[in-house]
Amino acid sequence: MTDTYKRRYFLHQVWSLAPLLGVALIGACGDSSRSKKENNPPSGTPPAAASPCALDALSQQERQQRDALGYTDETPIAEQTCDNCKLYIPESETKPCGTCTLFKGPVASAGYCTYWADSTV
Ligand code: SF4
Repeated sequence: MTDTYKRRYFLHQVWSLAPLLGVALIGACGDSSRSKKENNPPSGTPPAAASPCALDALSQQERQQRDALGYTDETPIAEQTCDNCKLYIPESETKPCGTCTLFKGPVASAGYCTYWADSTV
């Protein structure tokens, strides 16, 4: 094997592994910063309690579904709120947040979406 061939072979091998090394480095950096934030809160800071009515547990698709239906926490039409909609499921002793039969996640009693249906009809 000549020196030129060895050098070319070596460079070819390194070049073919570059994408894998890049992915590994990016993955390692991302995991490292995330785990520091999650596992090492500042001293004296109580652990953050997740709000039972937060949207944190929803997937991107579930959030998009809420948006696509035009849901908003405060109704733009005073006489049409989730509270007087057929599809609203109010909070209870076992459920801290109101919900809707159309999509996942918490729904405010003063909320509204374009699928509002009069509960008195
Ligand atoms: Fe509220 Fe719309 Fe669900 Fe009715 S359908 S409860 S207005 S989110």
